[in-house]
Amino acid sequence: SKGAALVTAVAQRLASQKRKVDETLSLFSLSSEQLQLVKARMRAGLEAGLRGEGPSEIKMLPSFVSRLPDGTEHGKYLALDLGGTNFKVMLVNFKKGLQQSSQVYHKIYTIPLEIMQGAGEELFDHCAQCVSDFLDYMGIKNTRLPAGFTFSFPCEQTAIDAGTLVSWTKGFKATDCEGHNVVDMLRDAIKRRNEFELDIAAVANDTVATMMSCAYEEPQCEIGLIAGNGTNVCYMEELKNIKTTEQKKRQMQDDWSDGENKEGEARIQTMCINTEWGGLGDHGSLDDLITPYDAEVDLNSLNPGKQRFEKLTGGMYLGEVVRQTLLDLTSRGLLFRGNVTDALKTPGIFQTKYLSQIESDRMALLQVRSILQGLRLDSTCDDSIIVKEVCGAVSRRAAQLCGAGMAAVVEKIRENRGLDHLSITVGVDGKLYKLHPHFSEVLQETARVLAPHCHVTFVLSEEGRGKGAALITALTRPKEEM
Ligand code: BGC
Ligand code: MG
Repeated sequence: SKGAALVTAVAQRLASQKRKVDETLSLFSLSSEQLQLVKARMRAGLEAGLRGEGPSEIKMLPSFVSRLPDGTEHGKYLALDLGGTNFKVMLVNFKKGLQQSSQVYHKIYTIPLEIMQGAGEELFDHCAQCVSDFLDYMGIKNTRLPAGFTFSFPCEQTAIDAGTLVSWTKGFKATDCEGHNVVDMLRDAIKRRNEFELDIAAVANDTVATMMSCAYEEPQCEIGLIAGNGTNVCYMEELKNIKTTEQKKRQMQDDWSDGENKEGEARIQTMCINTEWGGLGDHGSLDDLITPYDAEVDLNSLNPGKQRFEKLTGGMYLGEVVRQTLLDLTSRGLLFRGNVTDALKTPGIFQTKYLSQIESDRMALLQVRSILQGLRLDSTCDDSIIVKEVCGAVSRRAAQLCGAGMAAVVEKIRENRGLDHLSITVGVDGKLYKLHPHFSEVLQETARVLAPHCHVTFVLSEEGRGKGAALITALTRPKEEM
């Protein structure tokens, strides 16, 4: 009959649509062979970066941090944190005589987009102004505190308190900073204000600060991981494997042989390396995994062609990968009734927090629809299922890639030490890791499967960037001055 033919036609159309959506989703799924490949490429990148014989995808930047804290550090420090979503100023107090006890006061300052992407001097003037406000707020403007600066971008360090910005990443693009020493830029901005003094004793990547803050409580913590807007890892490497210049090594010995530790020179055997693993793929090593949606996201970013691994794994980009996928599905008539709206064309609408909400298991489809409604995306029930599936595919791939990278790092450490089995702890920070409903689980599971000879424990850092910068500052000072 006519009716039955119609029903069959509709069923066939639905099946074919479902097939097309599934084909698109499968672009994001990684086989175990592919994950093994990613691990191998990450490992090769780590080794090439350490050899330092030419430009490598992974920079492997020496951090000049050669010692972990032992929990007896004390004193008051200022910590400045630039490179997350905001500029954060903190006063960290490690109490004397009390092991592993610290107090943190902080204030968070937003950085307007026009400053993030404006003139470099103004960015640092803005930071100096925030510090000034904080010192007033705490009533400590006349005490010249030692300060640590957490600066979450790739820096070529020549000393514990000197770092040249290699290139901006994430949402930053202020002029005249790349190639400059960012500690000097901050010192100059403070001088320009001519209002307070600050002794900036250390600069550190956020991964390094995070590792240090977790190591303060857990001596097995020798890796730092950030899975937030950006992505990165640091870990303790054998000094003999780091082919850095002799001059740098001498400087490092100076930085770390303070009064209390005269034989420091002989004792220093390790150094924390800021891997900058987000650069994996920058010379093409991930081309076989990159979907047309990733390519589009890269093209529209502030740094096309750079930080390719980060663009597959960082919270700042995942929402954009989702949006590009939804755009394509919609224009192919498979979603939102084929209606490509202005909302869908708006970059940045899918912030990490919405991905986390949409993917939450407790979230009923009706709630997913209301989140989409809030983003001005009118959805049917079927639409909301597809959106949730796309979010899941994109974030799962991100977590798996980070897990594969982590497997490469722990295997490297295990082999460095000639061990059959390695037990190690990773200090972690970043909203994607902390707030997403599945990311951490998938990351850990992937690392477990790909590094079967390592037992990896993940601990969350609390105020890690601030505490870590303060600890590094403490470690660079003679004990009697603390
Ligand atoms: C930067 C790293 C940083 C990471 C996490 C990346 O974009 O290059 O230096 O550690 O983001 O904040
Ligand atoms: Mg000391």
